[in-house]
Amino acid sequence: MGLYMSPTIVNNVESLCHVVHILRMGGAEYLKLGTPRNSGTRIVCVSGDVQKPGYYEIEVGKVTFEELLFDMCGGPKEGRKLKAVIPGGSSSKILRCDETFQIGRGDDAKELTFWQLPLDFDTLAAAGSMAGSGGVIVMDDSRRMSWVLNNITHFYAHESCGQCTPCREGSTWMKKVSDRIAEGKATPEDVKTLEEIAYQIDGKTVCAFGEASAWPVEAMIDKYRDELLAETSEDNTYKSSERLEQERFLATVR
Ligand code: SF4
Repeated sequence: MGLYMSPTIVNNVESLCHVVHILRMGGAEYLKLGTPRNSGTRIVCVSGDVQKPGYYEIEVGKVTFEELLFDMCGGPKEGRKLKAVIPGGSSSKILRCDETFQIGRGDDAKELTFWQLPLDFDTLAAAGSMAGSGGVIVMDDSRRMSWVLNNITHFYAHESCGQCTPCREGSTWMKKVSDRIAEGKATPEDVKTLEEIAYQIDGKTVCAFGEASAWPVEAMIDKYRDELLAETSEDNTYKSSERLEQERFLATVR
């Protein structure tokens, strides 16, 4: 018996896609795809600011971000430059396109740019994020990070089931504070408060949704603190909730 004592089946589409390969190739051959610790294939769903967003099936660890976003997805839109990528669904920590990362330890340690990172579980964890659901969200230089953050906090505040206080209250507080930042009504103290709320949720909830709501906030402040603080200054050019509404609307039609 499953949910509510009724027959229940949850099929992960990606798992079913793997089954096809395994039946055709045999398990041993399928295991040779990808890399030894990250074998097989994954389906990544690329959305956002690239020429050809869509689903791409890749060998795990055999495709770098440069190959995925330029060779497969056609690169950024005309006149734009890629700014940041959320690599594994909205709860995974954002990566800047201009970052470099220390991957591996000891003799195996190497420094890789964001573009050189292969998409596999171990590498993305070593880069401080995760492969997660495979939902790759791409942002170009037209995106305000306060708007991106606001978009994410709205989602988690809406989705919290409300069972435990840090997640229920914290996700709503994060939404409210990020509203102020995105509308240009925040003070520098708000950025600090937002960060503190996220760390108060992290590790203190019944299920992993708490972390899922906190990690993107922690990472966004860590990686784009200066940009967020700039929006709290008096000469901030985005001091308008109308502008925020316009951005929300444009995101639905782009
Ligand atoms: S952490 Fe999980 S159980 Fe707790 S309120 Fe959030 S969604 Fe519900």
